[in-house]
Amino acid sequence: MEFTERAASLAHRARVHDARLPLHRRHIALRTCLTVFAPYGLRATYHHPTLSARIPRHLRADPEALVRAVEELHEARVLWLARAEEYAAQRRAGKRSGRRAVPNPRPWWMRSPWDGPARAWYDDPLRHPPLRLTEYVRRQNALLDGAELPGCPACGKEGQLEPNSTGHGRVELCGRCAWARAPCPCGRRHPSVREAACSWQAIWRRAHMGDDGMPNPHRPAGRR
Ligand SMILES: [Zn+2]
Ligand SMILES: [Zn+2]
Repeated sequence: MEFTERAASLAHRARVHDARLPLHRRHIALRTCLTVFAPYGLRATYHHPTLSARIPRHLRADPEALVRAVEELHEARVLWLARAEEYAAQRRAGKRSGRRAVPNPRPWWMRSPWDGPARAWYDDPLRHPPLRLTEYVRRQNALLDGAELPGCPACGKEGQLEPNSTGHGRVELCGRCAWARAPCPCGRRHPSVREAACSWQAIWRRAHMGDDGMPNPHRPAGRR
């Protein structure tokens, strides 16, 4: 990441912290931070801290929730940046000694959200892993370094997979986060789960949260 981009990202984080700004501006600054780094994809990575940082439906009920959210994101981003820089240095050294091909598998942060095993988080932003973002980044970094971890590569859940029909084939998904263990046999890109029952607008407005920072029991998006 370029220095300017990094400085801009820190400026957006500072804006989320800035109690002199109107809450909606601080909320938008949080979204801007997610456009720079969103390990579960933009919409799912926004949904995650609504629960973990308990962002209430009305921001004024708990403005500090925005700070908790941006700090969780920032901590994870620092871990990722360190690993990404290490990776870039390894690649430069590899190229100098004649290894030009991109290593396989590609590092986790270069995966496309809609064209890989995490496709479900894109179609249904409620189905991301429940891990704290730092935990997720640590897990992905460990796998990249060759660690053998039990359970779902994304969330660590062990046990039964969830078979899902794609209409013409079957994909086996993690029963918790819907990570696809094996791609659809047809080899094409398409959804592996049904689209979320609630709109992005509803998630963005936190219709699934109450003002006490607890999930609203009458709305489906708070189900995890
Ligand atoms: Zn999982
Ligand atoms: Zn298919």
